[in-house]
Amino acid sequence: MSRIAVVGGDGIGPEVVQTGMRVLRAVAEGDPALDLEFTEFPWGCEYYLENGRMMPEDGIEVLSGFDALYLGAVGWPTVPDHVSLWQLLIPIRRNFDQYVNLRPARLLRGVESPLRKPGVLDVTVVRENTEGEYSDSGGRLFAGTPREVAIQDSVFTRHGLERIIRYAFDLAGTRRGRLTGATKSNGISITMPFFDEVFREVSEEYSDIEASLMHADALAARLVLDPESFDVVVGSNLLGDILSEVTAAVSGAIGIAPSANLNPEGDYPSLFEPIHGSAPDIAGKGVANPTGAIWAGAMMLDHLGYDAAGRRIVEALETTLESGTKTGDLGGSAKMDEVTEAVIERLRG
Ligand code: ATP
Repeated sequence: MSRIAVVGGDGIGPEVVQTGMRVLRAVAEGDPALDLEFTEFPWGCEYYLENGRMMPEDGIEVLSGFDALYLGAVGWPTVPDHVSLWQLLIPIRRNFDQYVNLRPARLLRGVESPLRKPGVLDVTVVRENTEGEYSDSGGRLFAGTPREVAIQDSVFTRHGLERIIRYAFDLAGTRRGRLTGATKSNGISITMPFFDEVFREVSEEYSDIEASLMHADALAARLVLDPESFDVVVGSNLLGDILSEVTAAVSGAIGIAPSANLNPEGDYPSLFEPIHGSAPDIAGKGVANPTGAIWAGAMMLDHLGYDAAGRRIVEALETTLESGTKTGDLGGSAKMDEVTEAVIERLRG
């Protein structure tokens, strides 16, 4: 049995994970080998407003007993973003050493890209998830005076770079054999040249992979103009975050894309979530696109070793979208539940 901790979070988060769980239960119904047990935790911004913290003090300890974590979205306008991020998601990523943030983007059947000439779009961004620019090392001096200074250090370690770059090379080897390293070593003159150096060193171990480095600004433009020229892109915490948002947008809409926060060694649970946020503007209306959450659920099954069930979910999702049952953000008129029921029907049928 696989034990899954579920944190719906805020806004559309709880809605889309409920949907995702319905789909996961449906796929498990027809598969005796697939035994999933869900335990839900009401953590997030509402919890913060009542208790002064995003999750209980022993939250990480509680989650450590599970095989995987399934998350909706965290963040609400009345709670500063840095509080919601640094008190929930970042402690989970760091304590569970989820150093790979895997963000696939693919133009699913039945979905139109906002690009005029999308071609084949199938790019996975591998984002470093535990260090880099997302560091709490630094400080603020002379706050509130004209001399105010803010300093924040970026942390790039050889250990952190080698393992994420190796992961990306290995992944490219299972796909179309092309890896692009996102850099910015022309402007960021200490950490990024170090990234480039480690990238080149590791690339020597992978002679069968076509590897290149590209400045992140040019890379972002090329992802829009010529997405088919990419296979796997690896980047630091910040650059990977931004570039994966671009790939999500060009593959149709932000509501489509999933994300896995992986501890590849399996020493700790990995976390699966849609990449979109809590979308307060559409929360509670039943119109959110559940695709990202459902696809993230399929990635969770792959990770737990149920690859065939994961593929069945993505196939049912694509057939549903292709038939025209899709939410407003994709130009359709279906509500979230209609999309979900159509996917479940295909899984049962
Ligand atoms: P957060 O601060 O939690 O990231 P946000 O509102 O700033 O939240 P997102 O939630 O990622 O950022 O989304 C921005 C906009 O995209 C939303 O306001 C919403 O209109 C749209 N959107 C996001 N996710 C979905 C979805 N699943 N279905 C439909 N529209 C969505």
